[in-house]
Amino acid sequence: MTALLKYCPQCSRPLVVGEHGGAQRLACTDAQCGYVHWDNPVPVVAAIVEHQGQVILARNALWPSGMFALITGFLEKDDPNPESGVLREVEEELGLKGRVAGFVGHYPFERMNQLIIAYHVVAEGEVVLGEELAEYKHVPFEQIRPWPAGTGYAVRDWLLRQGITPLPFDRRFLARIRNFRAIDTNLLTAGQPTAEELTAVSACGVDTVINLALSTSDHALANERAVVEKLGMRYLHIPVEWEQPRRQDLLQFSAAMAAERAAGRSVFVHCAANKRVSSFVMLDRALHLGVPLDEAERDLHAIWQPDPIWASFIQAQLAAARPVANN
Ligand SMILES: [Zn+2]
Repeated sequence: MTALLKYCPQCSRPLVVGEHGGAQRLACTDAQCGYVHWDNPVPVVAAIVEHQGQVILARNALWPSGMFALITGFLEKDDPNPESGVLREVEEELGLKGRVAGFVGHYPFERMNQLIIAYHVVAEGEVVLGEELAEYKHVPFEQIRPWPAGTGYAVRDWLLRQGITPLPFDRRFLARIRNFRAIDTNLLTAGQPTAEELTAVSACGVDTVINLALSTSDHALANERAVVEKLGMRYLHIPVEWEQPRRQDLLQFSAAMAAERAAGRSVFVHCAANKRVSSFVMLDRALHLGVPLDEAERDLHAIWQPDPIWASFIQAQLAAARPVANN
C-alpha cells in the first residue's frame, strides 16, 4: 500500500522515506507542506454469522475456490459505531438482518495493515448474496477449521468461548511463506518469515523454530528470538555463511534435529530463501534417516539447483559419510 503512494496528496510533490515519529515513513519533500503518510492500520469489522444454528462462511469473488472466511468490511465514516457497521455489512453481503450477540475481540492483520474488530452476529432471513461474494456455505460449529491469519484467530477464540475445542489450524495457509515446503507433518521448511507468519507457524502447532540465516541476511527479522519465544516456541539459531558452509554447521544442525525428533517436537526450519535449509535438510535425511538420496534430492530441487559452492559442499558431505572401501 505504502509503495503505491508516490506523490503528496496535499501539494503533489514527491514523497520520500525519512524518520518521522520514531519510524521510517513517507513524507512530503516540501517542509512548508509537512505532510507525513502515517499509514495507520485501517479498522475492519468482521462477523461470525450464526444462521439456522450454523455459521455462514463466504468466499469473496476475488478469492480462489475453496477459500472461505468471515463476512468483513471496512468500518465506514457514517457508521455510528462498529456494531452498526458489522450489521450493515451482514445485510449488504448476505441480505440478512442480524443482531450483535457478543464482541469477540480485536485482531491485528499486519499483512493488510488492518485492525479487525470481530463480533458474533445472530441473523435471520433468507440469504441473498451481495455482489462482493461468489458463494457461501453453512458449517456446524464443531466442523469449522480455523485458519492462521486475520479473522481465523477470532474464529478460534469464539469456538473456545462456545465450549467447543476447535479443530487444528488449517496449515495450507503456511504456503504463503516464502519458498515454503512441508517435508512431513513434523518438519516444515521455508525462507524468512515475517513476524505475522511466525504467529501462523505457532498457531499451526510448531514447537521449535531453527534459523540457519545470519542476522544480517536478506529480510532478517530484528529480535527474531524474542518474537519466537513470545509465541511460546523454542528458538535455535545456527548461522550458516552463505558463501562458506561448514561441515561443523551441518553437524550442529543434525544434532539439533536428532534432539527435536527424539522429543517428538514439530520443527519449522528457515533461512533467507530456503536454499541453505533445503541443502541441510536433504543431507540430514539422506545421511541420518535412511531416506533414499533421490527422494531427499527431490525436495531440494523443488527449491533450487545448488550453485557450485553448495553443490561441492553437498558432494563432500555425502562422500565423507560413505564407508571407505577395503581393497
Ligand atoms: Zn506536500
